[in-house]
Amino acid sequence: MLRFFTGILILAALLAGCAIPQGAASAPTSAPEITMPAAASNIAEPTVTLPTEDQPTAVQPEATQTAASPVSCTSPASLTPALTEGPFFKANSPERASLLEAGMSGTKLTLTGYVLTTDCQPVAHALLDFWQADSQGQYDNTGFTLRGHQYTDANGHYQLETVVPGLYPGRTEHIHVKVQAPGGPVLTSQLFFPGVTNNESDNIYNPALLIKIQENGSSLQGTFDFIIAAQ
Ligand code: FE
Repeated sequence: MLRFFTGILILAALLAGCAIPQGAASAPTSAPEITMPAAASNIAEPTVTLPTEDQPTAVQPEATQTAASPVSCTSPASLTPALTEGPFFKANSPERASLLEAGMSGTKLTLTGYVLTTDCQPVAHALLDFWQADSQGQYDNTGFTLRGHQYTDANGHYQLETVVPGLYPGRTEHIHVKVQAPGGPVLTSQLFFPGVTNNESDNIYNPALLIKIQENGSSLQGTFDFIIAAQ
């Protein structure tokens, strides 16, 4: 009987001893670790570039207002060749930049350019006196049709509105001109048009005096820069 109780006690003790580890194992239930996404780092912030008010605003440099630079001049430049005056010059032409008149026939031509010295300096207030035949090759020797003089501006620039002259016997298309710097010698010459068949058969023609021509719809845009002696 004693053995029975002893056995019961031992069994109880064993059971009790076993119960302790079981309790210990289940008591401190460690909380599962949850790795939370770092919200702040996972959300990409939109890139917004705001103007910084206290940052000095970049000042736009003022556009330099220069008339189209004469690109044809390399110092020292050669003087524009002189040519014969011909029989149809008349002094005292009216001062005007446009020789166009109502009802005038012919292809309109706007001729622009510069008057420069041989070191490519613009000549302000240079005189340009133009005269020419009409589109039928006729000069006005009684009045001043298609005759006029003007002066260059401070940049040495000029602009003439006229028509393309016609042919007359022995001559290709040409515009007569006298150019003179203030107080300088007078250059008398003529300007010619590219692609005119009669150029080569005209013994006055000089290719150094060809106007650069661009078609502009039904009219022509021409450029020519004069190189003259300043004094
Ligand atoms: Fe002529």
